[in-house]
Amino acid sequence: MPATASAQRRISRLATLTAVHRAFHWLHLHQPQLRQWQLELVRIPAPPFGESARAAWFLERFQALGLTNLHLDDAGNALAELAPELTPELTPDPSPTPYSLPPTPCTLLSAHLDTVFPANTPIDPTEEKDSPRIHAPGICDNAAGLTALLAIAAALRFANITPPIPILFAANVGEEGEGDLRGMRHLFERGPYRTRIAAALILEGGGTAAAIHRALGSLRFRVTITGPGGHSWADAGTPNPILTLSQALTEIAALTLPTDPLTTLNVGHISGGTSINSIPESASALLDLRSTDSTQLVSTATRVHQIFDDIVTTQSTTATPLKLHIDTIGNRPAATLPDDSPSSTPSAPSTVTSPSAPNSASAPPTPTSLSPAASPPSPSAAAARAAASTPSRSGTTPPAAKPPSAASS
Ligand SMILES: [Zn+2]
Repeated sequence: MPATASAQRRISRLATLTAVHRAFHWLHLHQPQLRQWQLELVRIPAPPFGESARAAWFLERFQALGLTNLHLDDAGNALAELAPELTPELTPDPSPTPYSLPPTPCTLLSAHLDTVFPANTPIDPTEEKDSPRIHAPGICDNAAGLTALLAIAAALRFANITPPIPILFAANVGEEGEGDLRGMRHLFERGPYRTRIAAALILEGGGTAAAIHRALGSLRFRVTITGPGGHSWADAGTPNPILTLSQALTEIAALTLPTDPLTTLNVGHISGGTSINSIPESASALLDLRSTDSTQLVSTATRVHQIFDDIVTTQSTTATPLKLHIDTIGNRPAATLPDDSPSSTPSAPSTVTSPSAPNSASAPPTPTSLSPAASPPSPSAAAARAAASTPSRSGTTPPAAKPPSAASS
């Protein structure tokens, strides 16, 4: 049976389970609560490399939901588990701690904490009258994903669902810009969960229409050209880093990039020079290359580097050579799951899947108590998987700002 048909059958079966109905019912009834979470967390600034306050807020919410093993890891990711019910085989230690359990596989469910906005950006959410829409910096990317992360944890707890293997909830740092996925890299390369994560679902932005199963690769560079500088009249003829950089960028702009695999190149920032009458000592630019294909990404980067090399060499003189520095400031792998892969297929950290979910437009009010169930029953593995892979968005945010293929930012 093809994987898609098999997955479809499994989903259909899950949809009949009472526990799954309970989880959806909880989500349906608690839209106001989700909206409140979204408003609360978006007010906490989370600029790149400044996510700690928002991470602390998450640990409090995780604790209130009765999740276990909650902690900040060495990268600053806020983590918590929804663990299976303990069984005799799993609990040889009479007073088990999470650390005394055998290293079972787990499913990662994550959303990134950071925004693209600098620390001093005013954040004052505004709510449209008679509309579920909220306006605020980062309300969509990624307050919506973070709210869905909490919503899923809450729905599982209140539906009395315990998973067959642990679900690791992660509000992770460093997704945006020069954060360069440092939170996820830590989880997958150095953290104690690195050998245990068997599948990953990432909740990103607003909208519920797209389930992305491929990751857009990117390479980012800071290119700096330096020279001796000088006076515009007295040192005329000295190689000029700004002009050299401009010449290289003009040539790069004329490159024909493939549309299949789709590949893009952006120069997002340039700087250099000190005054109108001085030959600058340096000029630099930030470049962002993206492609759905990792080989294409590398070959485009190589070509770009060659252009800088050639032009810097051409513009240098024996007496006054220019120097070229190219620093890689971002490197995200391109990857894809097969089209017929069920969402439970073990996936790379940068692979994103976010199935659709109910819209909140019809959500009734009246949130109820948030005390988690004291002793949840143990539903089937499949029920837990279904619930874990069904994020709910508050529906109060604008549609997804990114195209489905843009899994990285
Ligand atoms: Zn994002």
